[in-house]
Amino acid sequence: MSDLDPFKIFLDLQLGLPRNGPGSRAATEAAFVMLPPLPDKPEIADLGCGQGASAFDLLRLTNGRVTAVDLFEPFLEKLGERAEEEGIGEDRLTVTRGDMEALSFEEAAFDLIWSEGAIYLLGFEHGLEAWRNFLKPGGFIAVSECTWLTATPSDEARAFWEAAYPTMGTIASNCEAAVRAGFEIIGTHVLNEDDWWAEYYTPMRARIAEMRATYGEAAEEVLANEEAEIALFENNPGQYSYVFYVLRRKG
Ligand code: SAH
Repeated sequence: MSDLDPFKIFLDLQLGLPRNGPGSRAATEAAFVMLPPLPDKPEIADLGCGQGASAFDLLRLTNGRVTAVDLFEPFLEKLGERAEEEGIGEDRLTVTRGDMEALSFEEAAFDLIWSEGAIYLLGFEHGLEAWRNFLKPGGFIAVSECTWLTATPSDEARAFWEAAYPTMGTIASNCEAAVRAGFEIIGTHVLNEDDWWAEYYTPMRARIAEMRATYGEAAEEVLANEEAEIALFENNPGQYSYVFYVLRRKG
């Protein structure tokens, strides 16, 4: 098992989970209902879609077409299998392998860009800047982003996030960043603790136990890192959470 590279182990862990970041149908809906009425058949992009947790919710919430983009084929394969099971055709769902930092869509292609738990990979402000032109003028974007909820985090939480995501903002600083990137703020929605546990950390704990039994020492570093992230969340309630930012492109 020594040929297992850490990324493969991480991928195996993530593929065994119902979603690949904190979130829930209820949280997606709470962000969606903040939007003003959309066109009858909106063009929607789901960037960093993973296995499509939010893409399938958006298909249910609208009559539109969702273009689901992710860099990693194994996630897209799972998304494709689920689309087939649910009888969702190509008229409603386009699955595209692509880099969300270098998208090749036409300008102003979308009424709505959705992205859960992925914009941090580009950095919040840079991601918003990079995606803005793919929206129609006046179009909408909803992104979820891990965010400080306190100005006085514990030493443990501060140290973890300084290493993992040093530019993590507060709701206020992210709203300022969104305005600088050319958006108006429609609203924000803070994910609750259950949004982290039910479909993400609880199944992740179970998957870590399974993988430890299968892979043994070869997977230990990756699994221990993930466990540390879960323990941090458990031990520091209310200090940080994912937050949805629902925005409108200005001009
Ligand atoms: N939105 C999904 C997945 C979030 S995890 C959910 O909430 O379940 C982040 C996702 O971003 C992963 O699926 C990962 O494969 C994808 N990703 C990472 N870098 C990317 C890039 N440069 N371009 C597109 N997708 C990327």
